[in-house]
Amino acid sequence: MKLFTALALLLALSHGAAEARQASKGRAKKPRRTVVCIDPGHPSEVASGRDEQNGTNETAVAWAVAVRLRESLRARGYEVVMTKSAEDELVRNRDRAEFANRNGADIMLRLHCDASNARGFAVYYPDRQGQAKDGTVGPAPPVIEGSRRAARTVHAGMARRLAGALRDNGVRTDWQTKVGREQGGALTGSIFSRVPVVTIEMVVLSDASDAEFIKSETGQRRMADAIADGVARFKAPLPAAPTRKAKARPRKAR
Ligand SMILES: [Zn+2]
Repeated sequence: MKLFTALALLLALSHGAAEARQASKGRAKKPRRTVVCIDPGHPSEVASGRDEQNGTNETAVAWAVAVRLRESLRARGYEVVMTKSAEDELVRNRDRAEFANRNGADIMLRLHCDASNARGFAVYYPDRQGQAKDGTVGPAPPVIEGSRRAARTVHAGMARRLAGALRDNGVRTDWQTKVGREQGGALTGSIFSRVPVVTIEMVVLSDASDAEFIKSETGQRRMADAIADGVARFKAPLPAAPTRKAKARPRKAR
């Protein structure tokens, strides 16, 4: 009889545990939405981004695409935060990274345009730590790894949607930028980032045909959709499962 009671108790306990598992499964089906931080580059402490190139400027282009990208990502169910609330708002690069950290972003997209005698788009990420002017060293190795994955997936999405419109310059590293190299291999916005971060040089604005593309509403929309496609390919690292004891506590009833 005693044994029977113990068995019944055990059964009841395991049933309870199963229910608890079921409940936690139910919760797991509704994970926190992926948070995307859009950072329309400029004005920053480095540059105003207002130099006129082919009838437009970097600040205007980055803002126009950012607004469309926000729309596109929200329509796909993402939570979106933006480092600026107005086109002309000056934000320091360190503050851009800290904004993404504070908002618990899963990925940070920094939108820029290049100026050179080349053309096309490229996606940059920090592949090593750098050192900022104040001595801060970063980003941490898991952020480097996450940024590498983010760069690959964002680039893959862009490559597909932009094929035939812009030259694809592939995935590059912060080290390949002037400021990045001066700081040992990472841009300021990467050094202070605690979340995967990529810098997208959407076009080379000094190139007439690139400028023509990104000045048009169709081009801006296509660019925004291309980046959103890339984000959709990016799987944010899942939060670590909460640790809890799987075994029922030993009971005295025996
Ligand atoms: Zn820029």
